[in-house]
Amino acid sequence: MKDSKKAILFLIFFAPFVGEGLSTSTPVYEWLNPLVIILLVFLYGFGALIIRELLIRWGKGSEGWLTLLLLGAAYGIIEEGLYLMTFFNPNWQDIGILGYYGRFIGVNWVWVVQLTIFHMIYSITIPVVLTHIAFPGVKEESWLSKKALIFVIIIFILCGPIWMLFVIDTYTKRIFSRLGFTNEKIKYSDLQKIITDNLEKDAALFNEYHALLVELGKNYCKKKPVCTSCPLNKLCKKIHCSFKRATI
Ligand code: SF4
Repeated sequence: MKDSKKAILFLIFFAPFVGEGLSTSTPVYEWLNPLVIILLVFLYGFGALIIRELLIRWGKGSEGWLTLLLLGAAYGIIEEGLYLMTFFNPNWQDIGILGYYGRFIGVNWVWVVQLTIFHMIYSITIPVVLTHIAFPGVKEESWLSKKALIFVIIIFILCGPIWMLFVIDTYTKRIFSRLGFTNEKIKYSDLQKIITDNLEKDAALFNEYHALLVELGKNYCKKKPVCTSCPLNKLCKKIHCSFKRATI
């Protein structure tokens, strides 16, 4: 295998590892799910690959630090602002007090700065720089043909909304089936219909509802549920809950 191909493989797996793995944003057990890995590679890995390719194609060289940092910041804005919309959601799962501290005209400004810097440094700059250090012989070369670059950009654009749906879908199915509301094999479109039919048509309410489901799924209704401290413990039927006896 050519060094440029090895470098591509290294970068597309290393970027999600640094951005999501080391920050523990994606819990360890979720890395066992191949679909999670694929989506993270498409989002973080392809994001870093596109930026690295643009750096070289725009003639900035592997040490075009300013361009790399600016493109890293742009990546953070696209992921958090456009895909996940966490810049605007005061109830996002990880936001804590930054959902109201520093919030102005519907934007979580302190969170915006914090997450933009995080992605600029951890998701993009560190993976790209370490990939160049690991593969010095090809660090000034373009690694993608024009067609391949367009393909990677299209996948990157498509995967953001898919990632968000996947996160909500996985948690919602699990929680609703354990509560006894739905079958665990229900289709996402049917699940969405149940939710939209039973909630007021209010975008802020939907955002909050989704954020709370993600929060519950991430902290309590995990694969191995933590029923004892779950806020829904008394209401929940714990159907299909294989760890029922150990944790109730
Ligand atoms: S009580 Fe247990 S099974 Fe039910 S929602 Fe909470 S964590 Fe999930």
